[in-house]
Amino acid sequence: MPELPEVETVRLRLAPFVEGRRLERVEIDDPRVTRPFDPRDVARELTGERIVHADRRGKYLVLRFASGRALLIHLRMTGALLTDAERGPHTRAVLTLEGGSEISYRDVRRFGTWLLLEPDEVETYLDAKVGPEPLGAGYRARDLAEKLVSRRAPVKAALLDQRTVAGVGNIYADEALWRGRIHPLRPAAGLTPEEVKALHRAVREALRRGLVRQGSTLRDYRLPNGEAGTMQNEFKVYGRGGEPCERCGTPIDKIRVAGRGTWYCPSCQRL
Ligand SMILES: [Zn+2]
Repeated sequence: MPELPEVETVRLRLAPFVEGRRLERVEIDDPRVTRPFDPRDVARELTGERIVHADRRGKYLVLRFASGRALLIHLRMTGALLTDAERGPHTRAVLTLEGGSEISYRDVRRFGTWLLLEPDEVETYLDAKVGPEPLGAGYRARDLAEKLVSRRAPVKAALLDQRTVAGVGNIYADEALWRGRIHPLRPAAGLTPEEVKALHRAVREALRRGLVRQGSTLRDYRLPNGEAGTMQNEFKVYGRGGEPCERCGTPIDKIRVAGRGTWYCPSCQRL
């Protein structure tokens, strides 16, 4: 599933295509994209809107319009936004921009969502769903500490909660915990201040690394031009069960935490 580095990569690549442009034609062919709202209504509402900013909050791509409205796109499992791609069986929507270029939305498993919000709804909605941006200049270890202190859940489960820190999912949670040398099952509230500092740094490092490699393509994630990301080639633990830890040589182990496959080093990350 696309996490912060993947969505941010899409945003960066998409911005020059869409910013300043008007939506000349909007086709949404799958009611699941906009449910519970009728896709024809949403398409009609979007037509004519001018995109002023391709933004991101957590895993949401946020197309902000001159009207103050915003379209929140969540790619979920397999959503992708592609520039001037051929239409195929998994194309669920197409945005035609003034000038004629097209952004198509492909989603094989159809879990992705588009939500159009009115000006006064946008920030309220996002603030309720999404915690602080971990790569924001003002993000400090104490911001993370505040979110973890009341949580008895395993630290990995706390990291997966988007209100703890925006944009971290299964992959980057495992990568960050390995970097921070913290066992994924440690109770969040039980981390020492030093461990929270290490985790804060580790979350940022793992996400920055992902951004540099333009995200990880395990299956469906693509850049808007159809290229794949390359972060999967440098995972430290994610998906690497049985392979030696690069720090200590111990085989990486796999467990389940919060219902998700979780990889860690049993030597570097002690319970
Ligand atoms: Zn190790």
